[in-house]
Amino acid sequence: MLSHVAKARQAQKLAGLLQQCTRGLAHAIPSDADTPLQAVQADYSYTPAGRNHLFVPGPVNIHDRVLRAMNVPGQNHRDPWFAAFFKDVLADSKYVFQTQAGTPFIFSGTGTGGWEAALTNTLSPGDKIVTFRYGQFSHLWIDMMQRMGLDVTVIDRPWGEGADEAILQDILAKDKDKKIKAVAVVHNETTTGVTSDIKGVRAAMDAASHPALLLVDGVSSIGALEFKFDDWRVDVAVTGSQKALSLPTGLALVCASDKALDHMKTAKLPRCYYDFADQLKTNPAGSTPYTPSLSMLYGLKESIAMLKAEGMDNVVARHHRLAEGTRKAVEGWGLELLCAHPRWRSDSLTVIKTPQGIDSNKIVKHAYSRYNLSIGIGLSQVNGKVFRIGHLGNMDELMMCSAISGAEMAMIDSGMKIKPGSGIGPAIQYWQETAKVIPTREVV
Ligand code: PLP
Repeated sequence: MLSHVAKARQAQKLAGLLQQCTRGLAHAIPSDADTPLQAVQADYSYTPAGRNHLFVPGPVNIHDRVLRAMNVPGQNHRDPWFAAFFKDVLADSKYVFQTQAGTPFIFSGTGTGGWEAALTNTLSPGDKIVTFRYGQFSHLWIDMMQRMGLDVTVIDRPWGEGADEAILQDILAKDKDKKIKAVAVVHNETTTGVTSDIKGVRAAMDAASHPALLLVDGVSSIGALEFKFDDWRVDVAVTGSQKALSLPTGLALVCASDKALDHMKTAKLPRCYYDFADQLKTNPAGSTPYTPSLSMLYGLKESIAMLKAEGMDNVVARHHRLAEGTRKAVEGWGLELLCAHPRWRSDSLTVIKTPQGIDSNKIVKHAYSRYNLSIGIGLSQVNGKVFRIGHLGNMDELMMCSAISGAEMAMIDSGMKIKPGSGIGPAIQYWQETAKVIPTREVV
């Protein structure tokens, strides 16, 4: 039987031959030496035993319970059963945002669509908005703001730092005529593993007595890290289903304050699919303006039921413990985090710098090709310099052990001087020492 590499080479040769036949050069059969494998798509038809160990910071692992809940036949969302079901899902969504006062919206879409909803429902062309750029996602949101014709003030921070409240306060304090309409912040920058302090941002806005709206990207924080929509007086918050909610990609969840809904009445940015007004006309009666993704809604209901059963404080504490163990591993390897200051360290993911001369893409490739482990590459300006281990969503410490062991092996494969066990050792020691009995598993 041919190996998979041999199969890929054979396919490549055939493709080459075909090309040459069409050029009338059928006699020139290429040799292995002149057919570099990377030029063709590798053969991924073989599924290895075990499982794909998924540790990118979204999409994340989906719990069996959620998978089962989504496995439903087609149904008609205009039949009478839907209204009560959808009203329940909307009410449950408030738990995710930790809000009583906010109005949740559920769109088929992704986090990027949630960004669009936040901006178009609250702002008009030419409106002034202030925001920070400290990674690829804050950069992309800024790009959207600019393409929409907003007047954007960008506070650039080094990639590895978070929102600097003092700079923001200064800008807002100088805006005597209150021309700035919104402040936008990416809570957890998934490029760098940095969590900004939204409570601190709100305090800076209050200290400057500024009435701007507070728009927050909580795509990789909400449902994993502390997030208090009401307490922090967030005006629009956005998340995506494939992150801490541990669902497939496909829903953008957005929550709006009454103040944001007031702004909607005069906001002039063009909007259609993501118009809150269309949802407000239909959602209260348990209906939607267009076809909802039913299996995603079933999954969302189950996922929120699991979050509620665990309790949000426990969910946040679990993420902290998983992150702490991962950081122990990084310390054990003698490596550094990209996040410069402990105040900003993310509990959703850990972003690890590789030493000079080591291409982090190689580590990610070895992890996938040898150990069936998916970890995150460095994005944009930190590509090749960092790799990312996600620990958000449906995750526990033994799952994390596979990520840390696999990353350790892949780093050794990539030529790094890492002592086997130097990272996984401290991690398991930390998790063992801080372990608690799982509620409902108490030995009697
Ligand atoms: N914001 C953050 C912080 C993200 O991590 C991502 C995606 O990873 C996005 C926004 C964009 O979300 P999506 O890819 O679901 O459109």
